[in-house]
Amino acid sequence: MKKEIDRIIAKPSQPGMVGDGFRVYNYIPGANISQQRISPFLLLDFNAEFNFGPSERIRGVGVHPHKGFETVTIAYKGSVAHNDSSGSSGVINPGDVQWMTAGSGILHKEYHEQEFSKKGGPFEMVQLWVNLPKKDKSTPAHYQAITKDQMNKVELPGDKGVVNVIAGTFNGVKGSAQTYSPVNLFDIKLKKDGEVVTNLPSGYNTAILVINGKAEINGKVANEHSFVLFENIGEEITIKAAEDSVLLLMSGEPLNEPIASYGPFVMNTEEEIMESIEEFQSGKFGVLN
Ligand code: MN
Repeated sequence: MKKEIDRIIAKPSQPGMVGDGFRVYNYIPGANISQQRISPFLLLDFNAEFNFGPSERIRGVGVHPHKGFETVTIAYKGSVAHNDSSGSSGVINPGDVQWMTAGSGILHKEYHEQEFSKKGGPFEMVQLWVNLPKKDKSTPAHYQAITKDQMNKVELPGDKGVVNVIAGTFNGVKGSAQTYSPVNLFDIKLKKDGEVVTNLPSGYNTAILVINGKAEINGKVANEHSFVLFENIGEEITIKAAEDSVLLLMSGEPLNEPIASYGPFVMNTEEEIMESIEEFQSGKFGVLN
């Protein structure tokens, strides 16, 4: 049975800045999508393609904490560098995905990769926050760096596109990232007239962000930068590209647990939030300069 569309949300009218390096449109929870409605997803920020001019001073966002969930960074254009209080660092290049499990707490910085910053150019990326089940919130922080070359993928017949299976299972092909609860995350790239059909459980909260292009999704037209939110009815999704298109499909089993959210801390109770703030202030997340 066809998955019903709840609503198609246009790009929010104004972007916001995260530090000085990320010019993002916020769809979750900004477009009036509550964190319970779209659980396990907590936040979706989309830096729609924007041309950053050359800069000797590296743009980005300075040291900040995260606790109790995961941040997933998907680079489409431009390169993001990061380093964190566990001593890890790396660069997320176009086509790469960084899946960071903040778990029990981490400090990190995210900024434009040095050479990209000096040269400037088009920058396009997504950051998606995925909640952790209560039982996994205190798992030690770590991350999965999935490069474009390592990504599990499905090539569509007739050279009509490719589906990068970031997480979950797409038409029998397993994704590259390990997750703590059932999550499907697909980077779908279609040539004009390319089509994909997939089935996802009706009970999973499901949405598609149109990164580029324009597509017909279950018979309705979704324009560039729009966000298609599905009802929890039906399973089948058909996407037909009206032009060359890039889409991000997210679908996950709701956690059905209380959410206590305060900025970069997402726990289950207010008491746990207070504890998290104290841990952060007393240096329990480590040191990062
Ligand atoms: Mn961060």
